[in-house]
This record gives sequence, structure tokens and C-alpha cells, in this order.
Amino acid sequence: MSALKKGDLSPSEKELFEVITAGNVQEASRLLGCKDVRVNCLDEYGMTPLMHAAYKGKADMCKLLLQHGADVNCNEHEHGYTALMFAGLSGKTDITWMMLDAGAETDVVNSVGRTAAQMAAFVGQHDCVTVINNFFSRARLDYYTKPQGLEKEPKLPPKLAGPLHKVIMSTNLNPVKMVMLVKENPLLAEVEALDKCRRVMELICEKCIKQQDMNEVLAMKMHYISCVLGKCASFLKDREDKLDGLLKSLLKGRDSDGFPVYQEKFIRECIRKFPYCDATLLQQLVRSIAPVEIGNDPTALSVLTQAITGQVGFMDAEFCTTCGEKGAEKRCSICKMVIYCGQACQKMHWFTHKKVCKKLQEQREKQEAEAAKLRMQQNKEESKAVQDATDSMQELSVDTSSEVTPSNTAAETETSDPASTPAAGN
Ligand SMILES: [Zn+2]
Ligand SMILES: [Zn+2]
Repeated sequence: MSALKKGDLSPSEKELFEVITAGNVQEASRLLGCKDVRVNCLDEYGMTPLMHAAYKGKADMCKLLLQHGADVNCNEHEHGYTALMFAGLSGKTDITWMMLDAGAETDVVNSVGRTAAQMAAFVGQHDCVTVINNFFSRARLDYYTKPQGLEKEPKLPPKLAGPLHKVIMSTNLNPVKMVMLVKENPLLAEVEALDKCRRVMELICEKCIKQQDMNEVLAMKMHYISCVLGKCASFLKDREDKLDGLLKSLLKGRDSDGFPVYQEKFIRECIRKFPYCDATLLQQLVRSIAPVEIGNDPTALSVLTQAITGQVGFMDAEFCTTCGEKGAEKRCSICKMVIYCGQACQKMHWFTHKKVCKKLQEQREKQEAEAAKLRMQQNKEESKAVQDATDSMQELSVDTSSEVTPSNTAAETETSDPASTPAAGN
């Protein structure tokens, strides 16, 4: 492989770079079948065809190249950029995901010392940052499904790897959503299974901290998942209403304003119980959360989510009040103040929302009335301003009347008279 020289391309390889830029997948497929085309050839800057396709945001092309054995970790670029970095820069989450799934290393840095996640953040591609920071390959989890050393049994029964991987890959850290994921899978929703999963989460957490290039973000996420699974197990053991009881506890709002106190306290406790006290991330989280009175912003969930997924705030998208899923569009028809991703979530939340719904409705109506009053006032002020402007224009036309013909002046004054202003007639 080291025989590859930058810019040393056969005519067909030169053509391949051209069809990638043009996005012609069919032609690229034909060229990749040619004898004189190497899938990992390098252009003069040390870019591979895969890097080009990733940078141009062409998902089908990336897929084709990977199928033909493109090396996702090729690192010959003149500034040390990898295919994953180019994917992150393109802002395409599907391509970013594809590179990770193909085994892209996340910790490689370019010539200015930035990782792919940092590069993506630098250019504002936060969705790609989220994908990179939360990626944990199925292969890394599957390691625990095979007996190691003297073990007779693996730490993780193979049938649990799928459902557990789904929980790990969720970028929605709302504990309600996580409990829902556990509840929907009968294999997982069982005390013994949960205990095994927890143990594996703790092992991965430890590994993330102790490995050479420490990954505190992933460690915190694994620890948090372990805490949620532990809570599930304890409700399954001790409570008759099982996981439904846990969901209710997490959703129950306090009487004064409907704020879910149990959920807030639970997440704070999870963070505080992080076993590696020296971790910078832990200290940052505690510093952000400790001074906040329960019920005020930021919530522990928003602080944790930002730290782990890189999502800044919960402002630019609508999130389900119950499960925290992005893109919720259904509004409570009475108060119109809370939103849900669907009817199931609305139904689940009603037992506690009904206590504050009326209050919220009154609040909204009051706000709307005030807004309407303000608008009317503004309109009045605006018409007053228009009136003043008209008056001064009239004065102006009077002043300049000696310079223009009287008939013109009259016409101008008339057209500049805003007919829509009621006061204009005075
Ligand atoms: Zn929901
Ligand atoms: Zn309501």
C-alpha cells in the first residue's frame, strides 16, 4: 500500500475522480471494475475517491466505494484529513454514520490537532458531531457476547446485544424514552437480563476512562445507561406496576407547575454517581447543575444531553414533552402549551398534565390577550407616526409649493396620504 504515490494516477483513475465529482454512480461502478483502477488511489493532495465522495456529500457513491473495499481510515491527505472528517464537514449525517459503521477511527487528529467531531463542530455541523460522539459500533458490543479467557459463559447473552445496542445508539437521553426502549423488548425487560447489561455498560465505561485516548463522553453515556437499566431492574423487582410505575414516576409533575421533580433528581443522582471523580466532564456537569434550583433551567437532562450529544439547547426543534423525541408536532388541544410526538405519549402524560392543563390554558389566554393589547397599542403608535410623517410631508409640500406647479403638489399630497390610516382625514 505504501507504494501508492500522491497524484500518480492512471487515466481511468483520473476519470473516476471526475465521475465522483459529477455524481455518476453507474460510471463509477464501471470504472471500479477496470484493472487499472485502484479504489484507494490518491490524487495530488492525498485524497482518496472515498474522501472526495464524502466531502461532496454523495452517499450512494460512498456506499459503492466501500463495497469495493475503500479504506475508510486512509490517512495520506496533506493536512491529515480522514474520510470521516470530510463526512463531518459535508454535514451529511448518513455519510458520517456510514464511515463510522465501516470502522472509521474517531480519535485521529488532523495537522492542526482536531478530531473529526471537533472539525464538524468548528463548521457548525452539530448533527454530525452528535452522530460521531454517540457512535459505539455493534462489533465493540459483540465482543462481550463471546466468552473471554476462562469464562464459560459470555458476559452478555448474544440475544441481548441487539436490544442493548439500540439503547446505546439512542441520541435521545430522556430516561422516559430509554425505559420505553427497555419495555418494548421482552428479552431486555427482565431483572437478570438488565443486571447483565448493566455490568457490561460499567465495563465499557471503565474501558473508556482507562484507555489511552480517554473518552469521557462515551464513559458518561454508558454510566448513565447503566443507571437507567438499574432503575428499571429495581422497579421490576419491587413494584407491582413494574416499568409503567417507573414511567409514571419519571413523568409526574409537582402540583405548582408540573415540573417532573423525580426525573430531575434521578438524572442529577446518576451524574453524581459517576465512579471516576477526577473526570473533567463530571466536574463540568456538577458545576453546571449544582447551583440550579430544582424546577429552573437548565435541567439536568439538558445539561447532560448537551455534554454527551453536543446538541446545544432545546431551542431550534420541538421535543415531545413525554419522551423527548425531536420533531413533535401534536399540541394539547386544551392548553396548546405542551407538545407530543404522538397520541401514545399524550395519553401517558395526561395523568399528571391534567393537573396543570387548565392553569396553562389560562396563562396562555392571558398572554395572548396581553399580546393583542400590545399589538393594538403598537398599531396606534404606528398610525400616529404615519400621521406625523404625513403632516410633515404636507408641510414640506406647502414649503416647496413655490418651486413646483400647484397641480403637481396637490396630486403628490393625495397619493402620499395613507388611506388605511383612520386618522389621516383629520
Ligand atoms: Zn413522545
Ligand atoms: Zn394541556
